Amino acid sequence: MFDAHAHPGASIKDNALVCSVSGSEYAALASYKYRAAGTLALSGDSPDFTLMERYASSGFHIGEIGLDRRYPDEDKQEMIFRQALEIARRYDRLAIIHTVREYGKTLSILKDMKIGKFLLHGYTGSADMARLFIRLGGIISLGPGAERTRSFKALLTLPFVTETDMAVGEEEENVLIGWNRKLSLLTGTDTGERSERIMKEVLA
Ligand SMILES: [Zn+2]
Repeated sequence: MFDAHAHPGASIKDNALVCSVSGSEYAALASYKYRAAGTLALSGDSPDFTLMERYASSGFHIGEIGLDRRYPDEDKQEMIFRQALEIARRYDRLAIIHTVREYGKTLSILKDMKIGKFLLHGYTGSADMARLFIRLGGIISLGPGAERTRSFKALLTLPFVTETDMAVGEEEENVLIGWNRKLSLLTGTDTGERSERIMKEVLA
């Protein structure tokens, strides 16, 4: 089983993609096998692209990055998002995208920049929109929050991966196991096995 989107926590594990939201976190991620350097408006920090690029060149993926309608200055968020995507492209890394009420804009930026190697984390949009992201080459990741969305049943028909968005550790492991058990029953597919296969392939 593989957690497609987690954060640094109490334990070091190899079966999770551990993401960050600010440059101040990057150094602490060094001991994880799968890790990503990100920047988000919600961190309150200004992005350091020189630092992000240095980590990208040493094997880090890029994320989480993205657009969040709850925070001000949309234009600045877009500029930062585009710069981070450019780094992901330059080093052929996976871009891990966080987007809140900005699915349409996120899609057009990815199309415009011809970015096809990305994971849309914590997806709660419509199934039709999800198919557009998948058509670009992207991966849709569902966390337990997806269960409360109107599109949940329709999303289950897609080849999604699974995540917790939690700090890695015992609690995160239990949530991941429970979430995959539920999804496997609902879909008739071993979603834990599928996530691990898809993630290890794209992160290789
Ligand atoms: Zn996260």
